[in-house]
Amino acid sequence: MKTGDVMVVGEVRSGVVQPVTMELISRARILADLQGSDVVVLLMSDELESGPGECAAFGADRILLALAPEFGLFNQDIQYRTVVHAVMETKPAVVLAPATTSGRTIMPAAAAALGTGLTADCTGLDIDFETMDLIQTRPAIGGNVMASIRTPNHRPQMATVRPRTFSPGEPDRTREAKLLRLDIPQEILDSPVETLGAEPAEGDESNIQDMDVIVSGGKGIARAGSFDLLRELASLLGGGVGASRAAVDNRWIGYPHQVGLSGKAVSPRVYIAAGISGSVQHLAGIQTADFIVAVNRDPDAPIFRVADLSICGDLFDVIPRMIEAVRSRIEKRKS
Ligand code: FAD
Repeated sequence: MKTGDVMVVGEVRSGVVQPVTMELISRARILADLQGSDVVVLLMSDELESGPGECAAFGADRILLALAPEFGLFNQDIQYRTVVHAVMETKPAVVLAPATTSGRTIMPAAAAALGTGLTADCTGLDIDFETMDLIQTRPAIGGNVMASIRTPNHRPQMATVRPRTFSPGEPDRTREAKLLRLDIPQEILDSPVETLGAEPAEGDESNIQDMDVIVSGGKGIARAGSFDLLRELASLLGGGVGASRAAVDNRWIGYPHQVGLSGKAVSPRVYIAAGISGSVQHLAGIQTADFIVAVNRDPDAPIFRVADLSICGDLFDVIPRMIEAVRSRIEKRKS
């Protein structure tokens, strides 16, 4: 077995390998090519509807299939111990996982068990050619600086990466990967931790990270009921609703909608920020948005410095006008 391989811990939900896995595989491919090593993908699931072919197309050389009924419901104990087992078996130099709820839950336990470090929530990954160390970049000190972290003395080098940080690039459908079954010791599957069930969080209708259009509200929204205005605009545009931390802290909307450093990183084609000042921590979540529209009544609001379209005005005046304009366009198209 070669050393220096890059392992990606895939995200599988209901038998489907999630797109974030392809983002990580594409990046892993670049890192592995720099070192002349392989990309190994670990997929843990009770069943797999699809996925290995996609993983190969985006750059996987070997796919470790950890299939067992025990993976049907998320169980942190079983999953982290399976990651540790896979690492011991394959000895990768680098292990990447998505900074999703499950990745953020599994990886710290796996890193502790392996006696190595973990850089959480990376927004950049590179290789130092002199030392061949992984350079793990992530926002630090409240998002005010970008820290470059390396793990010179311990292996593997482990990192979680925010979804939508890397573009998955173009798949190569002619690529093939070796499928290997990972035998999981029974003592790992016989976990003392039992998952009794899983329910979606209240108000978490859909994942904003999958949305092409996001209409976000901040403290300027002033109360929970006003989010209905943003929901109306978002639904006309076929998108979802996001929020700043201030809106979430005020309990006007649930945490799954929070965009930013301690919320989600999103990558929509259009991001509409209403009543959001544009703190560095909020902007950290919209770095890869294509087009930012800002509505704010303060002409000096920092959000205007990054906005592609700045609308200085009261959101309770501007948003209803936007709703009207979009609605009349939709009606014109119909007629
Ligand atoms: P404010 O900064 O209070 O801005 C409200 C804006 O609304 C103002 O610009 C005001 O002019 C405008 N406004 C008010 N009324 C109206 C109106 N009627 N019409 C138009 N405009 C109006 N923040 C996040 O958002 N996401 C994060 O993930 C996040 N993580 C953090 C992590 C750390 C470690 C720390 C320290 C902070 C984090 N924050 C995060 C908080 C961040 O620093 C800001 O406090 C927060 O983003 C401010 O939210 P806001 O823009 O809604 O509120």
